[in-house]
Amino acid sequence: MVQLTDDCFRGDERLMPLDEALDLLAERIVPVVEQESVPLVSAAGRVLAEDIVSTRNVPPHDNSAVDGYVVRHADLPESGELELEIIDRAAAGHPATASIGAGQAIRIFTGAATPEGGDSIFMQEDTQASEDGTKVIVPAGLKSGANYRKAGEDISVGDVILSKGRRLRPQDLGLAASIGTETVQVFRQLRAAIFSTGDEVREPGQPLAVGDIYDANRFILRGLVEKLGVAVTDLGILPDDEPTIRDALDRASRDHDVILTSGGVSVGEEDHIKPAVEALGSLHFWRLAVKPGRPVALGQVGKVPFVGLPGNPAAAMVTFLRFARPMILQLAGDAKTAPLIVRVASAFKHKKKEGRREWVRASILTDNNGMPTAQKFPREGAGVLSSISGSDGLVELPEEMTQLEPGDMVDFISFNEVGA
Ligand code: AMP
Ligand code: MG
Repeated sequence: MVQLTDDCFRGDERLMPLDEALDLLAERIVPVVEQESVPLVSAAGRVLAEDIVSTRNVPPHDNSAVDGYVVRHADLPESGELELEIIDRAAAGHPATASIGAGQAIRIFTGAATPEGGDSIFMQEDTQASEDGTKVIVPAGLKSGANYRKAGEDISVGDVILSKGRRLRPQDLGLAASIGTETVQVFRQLRAAIFSTGDEVREPGQPLAVGDIYDANRFILRGLVEKLGVAVTDLGILPDDEPTIRDALDRASRDHDVILTSGGVSVGEEDHIKPAVEALGSLHFWRLAVKPGRPVALGQVGKVPFVGLPGNPAAAMVTFLRFARPMILQLAGDAKTAPLIVRVASAFKHKKKEGRREWVRASILTDNNGMPTAQKFPREGAGVLSSISGSDGLVELPEEMTQLEPGDMVDFISFNEVGA
């Protein structure tokens, strides 16, 4: 299991900028160490536990990039045409046996290993072969080495093709396969327990009394965590009752690497998570200088990290994406924890408070010049679920900004990028 040192999330009461909070997490989170070997075919989404170093060249042999004729460049004329004798044939998987001498060519197909003697390849469209296939007329002007793929031009023996901490994408599996990899060493899958709290929170399908709401957050968080390749245990909705929460946390801490919840972490008297976690470990409220989303609770149940996100759904999602997600990725051994941020022009005006990072839910539309622009979702509250469903991502406004004008460039994080 992922092991934390005692009370490693202790913080102070200051309002903390997001970057500082992420740096602190990066220092304190200890990634999973256990590894396993998995067949390449089932390694998509897993995190590499060691570098993959190539023991082969790719391509393994010099070969042709086109269907055509392989020739000796030295034979070719400065101008006009030349007739060459076709002495053999090389197809993919069926190399030629002859080697090319003066005035000779070999018919070759894409991917076929190139024969001895040849160094440049004509595309067949640029040549005229005789009816009987024994002669070919080629033009002047072929570049030396044209259409000739060299062994090792993609990967050479000794290259690190994929590094430890890489989350394997389909194209990475293809790359690993190209050097003959059958199995890869990956970190074991993380296990997360997720629950919701609140006496007003109900499971869809149940009746709603006055004041009740359906649990939306668990569906959001579960999906987001599963997208990280984490095995999720769904603990359901726990009542606002300290002993019940404590008991569930205690059990979950025995066989999970992280425990995640939403709601019940403000500091009101109706919030029962704090005493439950504290009975089993420690809990700290990190006052992140962000909107939406303050506060986020971080603690440990025994040695297992505990993250308490805000109850309001949009706040829960945003703080998950920008705070809990990097933490889980780091626990999983993933070397890339920051999302890709792109710059787009804003189509909206926005006033904000200095000193905090703010996320505005937005969609990308194309302006009259074909350029992407960020359009703000019309309703903004931290509880507005339709804003997270109806947007393409988040415009992230820096701490120092106070006023945004249409046409200003802004940072944008696509929900796609973060599996949302
Ligand atoms: P809390 O953090 O418990 O004070 O909750 C803040 C707001 O979020 C309240 O309006 C709650 O009803 C709402 N909320 C809490 N948990 C959930 C949930 N699982 N799904 C949807 N809304 C929730
Ligand atoms: Mg509550």
